[in-house]
Amino acid sequence: MRWAGQRIDALAPGALPGLARVSNLVQSVRSPEFAGITFHEILAKTALNHVPATAKMLPDEWTINPYRGCTHACVYCYARPTHEHLGLNATSDFDTQIIVKTNVVEVLRAELAKKRVLPPRVALGTSTDPYQRAEGRYRLMPGIIQALGAARIPFSVLTKGTLIRRDIPLLVEADRRAHVEPGLSISFVDAELQQSLEPGTPTTAARLAALAEIRAAGLDCTVFLAPILPLLSDRPWQLERMVRQLAEAGATAVLPSALYLSSTVRPGFFAWLGREHPSLVGDYERIYAGGSEADPRYRRWLDEQLQPLLREHGFPAPDAGVQDKFALRGRRAAPPLAAPPPPTLF
Ligand code: SF4
Repeated sequence: MRWAGQRIDALAPGALPGLARVSNLVQSVRSPEFAGITFHEILAKTALNHVPATAKMLPDEWTINPYRGCTHACVYCYARPTHEHLGLNATSDFDTQIIVKTNVVEVLRAELAKKRVLPPRVALGTSTDPYQRAEGRYRLMPGIIQALGAARIPFSVLTKGTLIRRDIPLLVEADRRAHVEPGLSISFVDAELQQSLEPGTPTTAARLAALAEIRAAGLDCTVFLAPILPLLSDRPWQLERMVRQLAEAGATAVLPSALYLSSTVRPGFFAWLGREHPSLVGDYERIYAGGSEADPRYRRWLDEQLQPLLREHGFPAPDAGVQDKFALRGRRAAPPLAAPPPPTLF
């Protein structure tokens, strides 16, 4: 029992109708420490997930996601639709119904022992955050890091969770055997905005401290300056302060990206915007009139703000200006921005 010492309410399997699609469910667990959250502990059949090159034009990639759903609960999270594959909803269920692959370390070790050809690289944190709060209890990441390190497989970890600090010694040890690329997502200087959009995450200050600690341990750390929100977190003084703070904390590289709004996430985001910043709804409808990406004119404007700042603080220039959502995960560079029409919006 992973919750020893606490009051535990174990629910019957199938307590949530959508969980009929979750196979190998062992039990559903609630704890007073995590009000409103239910953890569905499963025995995973696989740990390594192969994302073929054809999927959404992404290159071939191996991933591990010990959790599905994320208590960080970012309003804009583009992983939300993955919960619909489980028969759960992409809004409240994604934030509160967390699937935990309790045996992921054992399964990973067995998979690595069996493979004649090992994955060239593994990405952690591509679908949900591996250092969300649940990791403090389930402690799945140490075993994953050790297994990958023992197999000399390079890997990346992307997180907003400061719990990564706990595992810095393990990451350093793994980095001696194969390159480890920690990455942090940090993008808001406005604390109120950050807590409103990312209610389950550590503060920007706490993430900057984690960044400094990772760098002090001798590891690289790229910061994903994402998402940048039009008219809310993209003011020149905000960008200047954010880039300066990242430089002071020692970030190895900075990859900026404007807000990406998939069709599934869009209604929830606009509901938040209408509640918190109703005067901006019309602006966002114009900026995102073309779909999930911000208007190319906006992205060009943002790029023009950021490039001098990044240069000034000694950061390598991103390959192709402001990165798109794929580059956010380090998968490929953004396509060249379209030639700018007259700047009527900005
Ligand atoms: S931390 Fe990442 S995975 Fe978790 S809700 Fe936020 S954007 Fe989604």
